[in-house]
Amino acid sequence: IRKVEHIVREEMNKTGALEVLLPAIHPSELWIESGRWESAGPELLRIKDRHDRSYCFGPTHEEVITDLVRREIRSYRDLPRTFYQIQTKFRDEVRPRFGLLRGREFIMKDAYSFDVSDEQADTSYQAMYNAYFNIFKRCGLKFRVVDADTGNIGGKTSQEFMVLAKSGEDKLIVCSECHYAANIEKAYARIQGDSAKVSSVEEMFEVHTPGVESIDEVSKFLKKVPEHLLKVLFYECDDKYICAVVLTGDREVNEVKLKRHLQVNDLKLASHEDLEKISGSFRGYCGPFGLVLGKDRLQKIVVDIRVQEGQVYVSGANKKDFHMDNVVPGRDFEIVDHVDIHDVRAGDLCRQCGKTLVEERGIEVGHIFKLGTKYSESMGAFYTDVNGKQYPVVMGCYGIGITRVAAAAIEQNHDDSGIVFPPPLAPFDVSLILVDLKNSDLKGKADEIYAMLLSNGIDVLYDDREVSPGGKFKDSDLLGIPLRVTVGKKSMLEGKVEVKVRSNKGSTLVDPSALLKWVNDNLTLKP
Ligand code: ATP
Ligand code: MG
Repeated sequence: IRKVEHIVREEMNKTGALEVLLPAIHPSELWIESGRWESAGPELLRIKDRHDRSYCFGPTHEEVITDLVRREIRSYRDLPRTFYQIQTKFRDEVRPRFGLLRGREFIMKDAYSFDVSDEQADTSYQAMYNAYFNIFKRCGLKFRVVDADTGNIGGKTSQEFMVLAKSGEDKLIVCSECHYAANIEKAYARIQGDSAKVSSVEEMFEVHTPGVESIDEVSKFLKKVPEHLLKVLFYECDDKYICAVVLTGDREVNEVKLKRHLQVNDLKLASHEDLEKISGSFRGYCGPFGLVLGKDRLQKIVVDIRVQEGQVYVSGANKKDFHMDNVVPGRDFEIVDHVDIHDVRAGDLCRQCGKTLVEERGIEVGHIFKLGTKYSESMGAFYTDVNGKQYPVVMGCYGIGITRVAAAAIEQNHDDSGIVFPPPLAPFDVSLILVDLKNSDLKGKADEIYAMLLSNGIDVLYDDREVSPGGKFKDSDLLGIPLRVTVGKKSMLEGKVEVKVRSNKGSTLVDPSALLKWVNDNLTLKP
C-alpha cells in the first residue's frame, strides 16, 4: 500500500496538484444540497451525533471539496486548481468481497479539479489522464483505459483504468482493430439493418404454443432465430412507476444503460401481479402491443435500438399458451422511445471501424470524470471573471483505489507458488535467506550483504528464522518477493551467493561484489 501511495503521490505532485486532507465525516447538509443524500441510497453509511444531527462517512468527497472551494475561491485569478488527498473511504457495499478488491472500508486517492471553462477543464482532465497512465505503468501493471458510466457521481463523461485479469468483475468490450474500448455498461456496437426484411407483411396472427415460454423454447418450437423474437420485460423504477422494455430475444437488458436513460437510481423486475395487470397476460406470453401508458403504473415503454421498424417478429400474444407471428414494430405497436439498452457482446461490430469486438475482463483501479457544473451549480461554487460576471466553476474528479491496486496486482500476477509482485509494488525487493544459522561464517556473510543492500536503498527481508531452507524458499515465493539471495555453504565454498528471480525458474551464482548490480538490473522494469 505504501509503495502504491508513493508512486501515486509523486505523479500527482508532478501535475501541480495540491495535497489536502479533508474530513472523513460529512454533515448531511452538504449532501442534501447536492441531492445525493437521497440518490446515494443505502451505500452511504449514515451516522448521528449526540445531538441527533445526521452525518455520513465519506464515500467520495465532491460535496466537501466544493464546500471548501466555494468559500476560498472567488476569482478567475484563483483558477485553475487541482486538489488531491489519500484517505480512507467507506461505502456500505451490498456485496463486499475478494478482500481488498471490494471492501466496505478502503483507501482512495481522490482528486478534484476546478476550472473557468470547459476547455480549461479538458486540459486538467488530460493532465490527470496522463498522470494515471504513468502511475499504472510505473506500478508494472497491464491495463486498459475504457469508456465508462458515470454512475452516482454523475457528470458528462468518464473513463476507467482497468487492470486486465481473468478474475476481474468488469466485462470490457474492446475492438480487435482500433482503439475503441468500453466497460460493457457503456459499450455500443454498430447496429446493422436486417437483410431478411419482408416487404409486404400480412396481419399478425396467433399461433398456439402450449407450455412454450422461454426464448429458447419458442425459438425451437417455431423454428425462428432468437433475433427474430421479441421479449417484453417490466421494470419497477425507483419504486415509483413501471417501465416496459421491448428487445430482441437474443439479447439481455443492460440495466446500467437503462438506468441512465430513465434517470433512475434503482431498477428491479416488476412483480408478477403488476406484470399481469399491465399486460393482461402471464410471464412468458407478454407482447409489445396493447400496452397502455398510464394504465396500472405503466409510465414508460422503451424499445431497444436492435428492434427494427418494419421488420417481422414473433412475440407473446398477451394470452397464455399463445404467441403472435407477423408482429411489425411501428405498425402493430408504436415506437416512441427507441434507444440502445442491450448488452453488447463479443462478435458485435465496432461502431467506430466496423471490425469485430472482443471481450476482456478487468479490475477497475481508477476512474476519471468530467463533472461539468453539477456540483458547482447545486452548491453555489462561482467565480468572477475579468468583467465581474459570475460563472459556476467547471469541475473534474479523479479516483484511484489504492488498496484495490495492491490486490489487483496480485490478481494479475501470481502462480501456483503464490504472489509474483511486479517489482515496483513488492513490499520487499529482495528476500535474503540464510541457510544455516549456526554457521558463523555464513551468518557473518549474510549480515554483511544485508547491511550493504540496505545502505543502497534496497528493501530486504532477511529471513534468519530457525526454519528449514525449503520452508524459507516457499515463504519467499508465497510473498512474491521479486529477488532471492541465498547464503549457503555450497556456494560460499566458491565464494558466491545463489540468486534467483521469482518469475524465472532457475537460479545462478553471483560474486558478492557483483550482487548490487545484479539486484538493480533485475529490479528495473522490463518494458
Ligand atoms: P465499483 O464499480 O468497482 O464499485 P465505483 O465505480 O463505485 O467502483 P468510484 O466511485 O469510481 O468506484 O471510485 C474510485 C475508485 O475507488 C475505483 O476506481 C476503485 O479503484 C476504488 N473503489 C471503489 N469502491 C471500492 C471498494 N468497495 N473497495 C476498494 N476499492 C474501491
Ligand atoms: Mg468507478
